[in-house]
Amino acid sequence: MPRVLDLHCDVLYKLQKDPKLNMHPEGQGKLDVTRARLEEGSVAAQVFAIFVPEDEPMEPQTALHQAELFWSKVLTEPGVKLIRSSADLEEARRTGAMGALLSLEGVDCLRGQWWSLRLLHRLGVRLLGMTWNRANWAADGAMEPRGGGLTKAGRQLVKECESLGILIDVSHLSERGFWELKELATKPFFASHSNAKAILNHPRNLSDEQLRALIEADGLIGVTFVPYFLTKEPVARIDDVLRHVEHICGLGGANHLAFGSDFDGIELYVDGLAHPGQYPDLADALLKRYPESLVNGFLSGNATRYLSDNLPKR
Ligand SMILES: [Zn+2]
Repeated sequence: MPRVLDLHCDVLYKLQKDPKLNMHPEGQGKLDVTRARLEEGSVAAQVFAIFVPEDEPMEPQTALHQAELFWSKVLTEPGVKLIRSSADLEEARRTGAMGALLSLEGVDCLRGQWWSLRLLHRLGVRLLGMTWNRANWAADGAMEPRGGGLTKAGRQLVKECESLGILIDVSHLSERGFWELKELATKPFFASHSNAKAILNHPRNLSDEQLRALIEADGLIGVTFVPYFLTKEPVARIDDVLRHVEHICGLGGANHLAFGSDFDGIELYVDGLAHPGQYPDLADALLKRYPESLVNGFLSGNATRYLSDNLPKR
């Protein structure tokens, strides 16, 4: 089974909601992402997102709490290694450790307080989405009807991230924000969990122009398993995931395609792809259509190369 690098899950937010949960088997039934299922799915590295829902205090403390849970409930699992640099990635590969990366999904809760960004960076955040779906102090999100771009503070955020060595995730960003970021950014950015708008028209999906821009800039596109970003049919299947994969490959993105499941951030699932332990079924379906070298690229090689090239060296 090819090794997997998954660009997005929301288990930290569930761990915050229910302090009794953990990543051990006891979490099973309540969590999609558990240590055992990551193992079962040959997940070599998983990105854990800090996501602050609207019913939690929109303050740095909420993000810091989830970062603490990442340290106390994820990094304490046997064989799990924090990835902050390309050297860490290489060491995890060499030792067979399971890599864990920390990301921030929306900067709303930081409220423009730069100390909290620097502290989260110290705690391991290396990937950052400027927005969730709504507008915030930095930019407009993909579901914000007015469709604005980056604010002045948002532009500063991009600069701060570049100087700290944090990569920008455009998955929830408005389309205008995407193009403004493209003008501003000096490092390739990526989309952790978005699909192709040409296949399913949804504001969270990316247009062909956006997909081409990500490919041309040597960025990365994480195809996601959110059913309503995949198909209009009542049930999404692995074949629907493959339609988005095929479309992105058709645009020349075969070496820039990855996966970001959104496990623990969704209530509906792709039939047969409901937790990381089912990655082998996706791998089998991919192997029926694509050569092994490409499938290895989709499942982990492309994302590993992108991170290796763009994370700080140490
Ligand atoms: Zn999301």
